[in-house]
Order: sequence, then C-alpha cells, then structure tokens
Amino acid sequence: MIPVRGYEGRRVAVLGLGRSGLAAARALAAGGAEPLLWDDSPEAREKAAAEGFALHDLTRTEAFAGVALLVTSPGIPHLYPRPNPIIARAWDAGVPVDNDIGLFFRSFGSRAWEEFDVAPRVVAVTGSNGKSTTSALIHHILAGNGRPTQLGGNIGRGVLDLDPPTDGMVIVLELSSYQTDLARALTPDVAVFTNLSPDHLDRHGGMGGYFAAKRRLFAEGGPDRAVIGVDEDEGRYLANQLAEGPEDDRVIRISSGRKLDGFGWSVFARRGFLAEWRKGRQVAAIDLRGIPGLPGAHNHQNACAAYAAARCLGLPPKGIEDALRSFRGLPHRSQRLGERGGVAFVNDSKATNVDSAARALQAFPRIRWIAGGLGKEGGIAALAPHLGSVVKAYLIGHSARDFALQLPDTPHEICETMERAVARAAEEAQPGEVVLLAPAAASFDQYPNFEKRGEHFARLVAELIGSGPAGDRGDPGGAEVARG
Ligand code: ADP
Repeated sequence: MIPVRGYEGRRVAVLGLGRSGLAAARALAAGGAEPLLWDDSPEAREKAAAEGFALHDLTRTEAFAGVALLVTSPGIPHLYPRPNPIIARAWDAGVPVDNDIGLFFRSFGSRAWEEFDVAPRVVAVTGSNGKSTTSALIHHILAGNGRPTQLGGNIGRGVLDLDPPTDGMVIVLELSSYQTDLARALTPDVAVFTNLSPDHLDRHGGMGGYFAAKRRLFAEGGPDRAVIGVDEDEGRYLANQLAEGPEDDRVIRISSGRKLDGFGWSVFARRGFLAEWRKGRQVAAIDLRGIPGLPGAHNHQNACAAYAAARCLGLPPKGIEDALRSFRGLPHRSQRLGERGGVAFVNDSKATNVDSAARALQAFPRIRWIAGGLGKEGGIAALAPHLGSVVKAYLIGHSARDFALQLPDTPHEICETMERAVARAAEEAQPGEVVLLAPAAASFDQYPNFEKRGEHFARLVAELIGSGPAGDRGDPGGAEVARG
C-alpha cells in the first residue's frame, strides 16, 4: 500500500466504496488522515464498517463541514450527464474533489528514494482502445528484461494498493478517461496515448470533453517523454502541440499503417513489421507477424506503443523483441481459445464499442461473428466498411434485432443467447474460418460485465473442443462500468 501524504489529522470524505474507494480509505488511514466513508449501497457501507471504517452520511446538508477533501470513484459521474449530487455539494462547500490517481501522484515519492541508485518512474497509458493490452505488454517487457515493475490503475491492483516502489522500479498505470479527468495531480515520467475513438461520450459531454480528459495526462504534469498514436486527428494535434519541432524527440509518434520517417523519434508498424526511426534513420525492425499474443493491426499498434515506452526506459530492441514474442495476450482481447476441425475460436468480449469490434473484424480473413448485447449510440452502422471478412453474423442479446436491420448485405441469424450462437456458428463454420466473439455492445443486458460474457463464451467453446475453460484465467481488468 502507498500511504497518502498531506492529509495527516484531517478529515477526508470517500465517496464510492468499490475496489478503488476502499483502497483509498486504507491508504488515507495509513497516512494519518481520518477517512469518512459513504456509498449509496447499504451493502457496500456494511462491508466498509465491518473493516472498522467510520461511515459519514454525505447526503446530509452539512456533510462537508470540516472536511478537507472529497475522494471519489471512477464509476460516479462527476460532471456529465449530470454531477452526482454529493460531488455538487462538495463544490458548493468549496471542498476540493480528487481521486485515487491524484492521491497516488502526490504520495508516490518518498524519503527512501535518497538511498536509491535509480529513482522509480511511472509510465501511464491512456487512449480509447488498447490501454490494458499496452499496459500489460509494457509490464511484461520490463519484467522479461529483469526490471522491477508493478502494474496497476484501471487494470489489476488499484494505484494506492500497489507496494511502495523499490530502487529502479517502474510502475505501469492504465488510466481511463474518468480517472485522468478528475485527478488533481498527474505527473508520469512517460505518458502514452494509444488512439481515440468515440466511447463513454455521455460521461464527457461529447467528443471534445472526452479528448480533453485524456489530454490532461500530457498537459498537467509535462511528462519527460510522450508516446502518441497519430492515426487520428486528435493524436496528431496532441503530438504537434507538445513538440517544439519535428526533431523534438521528447515526443515519440507511433502509427499502425503510416510510415513516419520525418521526426526525431518514431515507431510504426506496416504490413506486420515494426520499425523504429531516429533522426531520419531506421535503427531497429521487428517482424510481428505470427506472434500469437498480438494478432491484427490493432495489436501491432499496441506493440509500437509498448516498444516505444520500453525504449524510453532504456531497454534494448532485442530484449523488447524477445518479450513481445512471449506475450500471451490478455483474456477477452483477441484471445485465441483453441481450435476444432480447422476452426479457431477467438474471445474478444472486450470489444464493447464499434471501433474495437472493427479492429477484431480486420484481424481475421473469414469470420463467423457473434455480436450483440446492449448496443451503443448509432448501433453498428459504422461497421459497414469492415464486414467483408464476415461470412455470417450470429446475433445475441437486447440489440440482436437492431443489429440485424443494420446488416442488409451480410448473412445473419438471430440467436438471442450465447449458447445458441456458439452452437450455430460452430455447426456452420468451415475449416480455415474463425468463430469470433466481438460484440460491439456492452454486456449488461445478459451479464454483470464483459469478463463474465467472455468466460461464458470460453466455457461453451471448451465444452465443444473438449479442453479446460480457457477463459477462466484470472482477468486483471476491473468492472466495465468503471472504465473509460
Ligand atoms: P482498453 O483497456 O483501452 O479498453 P484493451 O486492451 O482492453 O483496451 O482492448 C479493448 C478492446 O479493444 C478489445 O476488444 C481489443 O481487442 C481491442 N483493441 C486492443 N487494442 C486496440 C487498438 N490499438 N485499437 C483498437 N482496438 C484495440
């Protein structure tokens, strides 16, 4: 645990008692603050009280008298579509609002560092898609090269749950837009922006607010190095804004598909090859084709981002390449479960939005596509250009009929349930084809979260192909609702 500094002897209200809220409460107490906890859910309050924490009803009018700070959780709207009333009350009382990420950056450094040979560093990853994969990949590369490292934030352990860093340790954080939007301190040494596509727009008041939330990671603290995906206008704008000129190698531009040879430092992947360029010269190349844990152009983008971050931390290309080859991928992200009669089964339950589903559909040539769930604004109309690889769609969940209407030229069948979709897709699939779960929708109509949906798919596939439940590997991801 990382004790929170700066609030010794002061009352700090904590709203939302999920994973990050409880971790914040413990870290506040460890740092000598007096945490006062609240959650709308009586069960969550009971759990906190059982741990010995003081509850404090934040819905009362005078709730913020004598309170120094309000710490809130990523699942709680702090501005759009409308602020949570407790957060609005903190504003009215003039009480600053922060989250666990802000507390982490304030508390991370310590006196112990004076004895260290190499100061600990933080790499923070944000973006619309590929954050978890990229963060896990950076962590895997560091660990594979013998560097002390920890992974946390929106993946795995909450930031304040991490162990205090040791000599030379690199902490890799995945940060969602909800987290970067609110944190009052954001000072990573290396910041990574993977890409941007519309998601969670209701929580950010539209695309501008969503981008602004992510941009804070670069604008607030001024990282030493910024690794920026420039395949969208927002990334190009951000890279341009941070760099003093094309030679400025504090900004490392990355791309999946574009050759970037006119900058001080860039890493890009084209036709399956990763290339690193510095000052007009190619300095390294890696063949990414056939790395099982990184299928498809989207994962090559993640590989570029992770490679660039690892290079910023001083690792050699060969050491990074070896680690890329041994990366197994994360559950529910283009996760290959197994094969039967020449038909492969791939679990991409995390493809909850149109952009991630589009990437999955481009990663394989002939697809039996299982899609549907709780569809997002606009449905799947935007997927039209990416359906060439789809042999047939098997539609499930609440949005099955809507999705069917948006597939005028693609063979499809309404299956309603995952059981039926898997059975029908497996029955009809031909050797060389892939049965792919990439729902392009949230899971909440039929499952508690995308992990449970992916595990269900994996269990059904395991029954079919007669192997262990491949999807039940521990998923370090948090609940879908808390991500952004
Ligand atoms: P995040 O943590 O940003 O949600 P994940 O690594 O969990 O990212 O991947 C989320 C979804 O996006 C998965 O369906 C995955 O296959 C897909 N994906 C992964 N990397 C990318 C990328 N670079 N671009 C687009 N989609 C991606």
